[in-house]
Amino acid sequence: TIKSSQQAIELEEKHGAHNYHPLPAVLKKGEGVFMWDVEDKKYYDFLSAYSAVNQGHCHPKIIGAMTKQAETLTLTSRAFHNDVLGKYEKFATEYFGFDKLLPMNTGAEAVETAIKICRKWAYEKKGIHENEAQIIVAENNFHGRTTTVISFSNDEGARKNFGPYTPGFLKVGYDNLEQLEEALKNTPNVAGFLVEPIQGEAGVFVPSEDYLSEARKLCKKYGVLFIADEIQTGIARTGSLLAVCGNCTCQNKCEQQSETYVRPDILILGKALSGGVYPVSAVLADNEIMDVIQPGQHGSTFGGNPVACETAIAALEVVYDENLIQNARELGNYFRAEMNKYIANSKVVKLVRGKGLLNAIVINDIEESSTAWNICVDLKENGLLAKPTHGNIIRFAPPLVITKEQLDECIAIITKTLSKF
Ligand code: PLP
Repeated sequence: TIKSSQQAIELEEKHGAHNYHPLPAVLKKGEGVFMWDVEDKKYYDFLSAYSAVNQGHCHPKIIGAMTKQAETLTLTSRAFHNDVLGKYEKFATEYFGFDKLLPMNTGAEAVETAIKICRKWAYEKKGIHENEAQIIVAENNFHGRTTTVISFSNDEGARKNFGPYTPGFLKVGYDNLEQLEEALKNTPNVAGFLVEPIQGEAGVFVPSEDYLSEARKLCKKYGVLFIADEIQTGIARTGSLLAVCGNCTCQNKCEQQSETYVRPDILILGKALSGGVYPVSAVLADNEIMDVIQPGQHGSTFGGNPVACETAIAALEVVYDENLIQNARELGNYFRAEMNKYIANSKVVKLVRGKGLLNAIVINDIEESSTAWNICVDLKENGLLAKPTHGNIIRFAPPLVITKEQLDECIAIITKTLSKF
């Protein structure tokens, strides 16, 4: 058994591939908004496993659903039916307002799935010649780590020496409608536009108010699919069920009623779809799009397994059971207001931005500086775990079950820490 954080870190260093650079916190337990390290130090989690743990760590209802199913039937593969998949597909399609769902496991797999569906739709429904479809993506996107997905990244670290890259993608500026329309107008054979409603990994970039709705209109005008990657932004994180719901305050199936709802043709979900307890991702679309996928053309051994399905149903129920949308919205507004008060007199923080409880502060330093990393190390010492992204940006994304009292304590930890820099 592991006796110290140092021992655990050394084991990873020696026996694991070095594909991550974690903060030196070795965690052994989680509950709600808290995690504990090997030395029993308690922390507020301000990352939520990149917004997977929206429902809080080890949520009893989700863990209960998962373990009950795990004791009954774990995996059949899709060679046979199981008695949970259809129930889950009905539940989730009604929940998000689409005809059909395709179950996968990880986010990147779901993005790959959406790309395949979009291409096949382009050839079979739109009449584009085979192998000529183009998909428009945004600069500074993050959609995962597979070979095709990194082919349209512009993060050098993610791309370099992993070529040759998959062709058929074209980049336009994020939050730039002019460039999008230029590309739609001037590029032959565009099949779709793949976009994050808020760019999470890029540093929580919230686009202009009308960006998504106007981009949606452009996609309609030019007959291409609008594909929303809500893997990080979806499932209550930004103060609405999905970030594409805009400012809808509707608490019940808001996506079907809201005027601000920008309905994607293809919706991609992952992360919080299981509350962070099991890898569950999904692609949702209506029949005329989803029906291009026929037996043998796409799949995954674990995709749609009974444990995943029961886990996801429970995780989605918790969102409404516990009012997570409203909580993320209210506490997000409060957090940014409090941080802005602090920042008014701070030399180290340039700005705070975000939506709901997906927020970031930008440190007043060059991207390559170590200031943000050092701040995160001190935040850890003071009992709060957060991680820098792109050198000088720190994301703040606690589980959405956080209370106002807990958030006040976190704001005190953050401001106390920042004032030392
Ligand atoms: N898309 C977005 C917007 C993400 O934030 C992420 C993960 O951070 C992914 C895709 C990839 O998901 P996964 O790491 O589960 O493959």
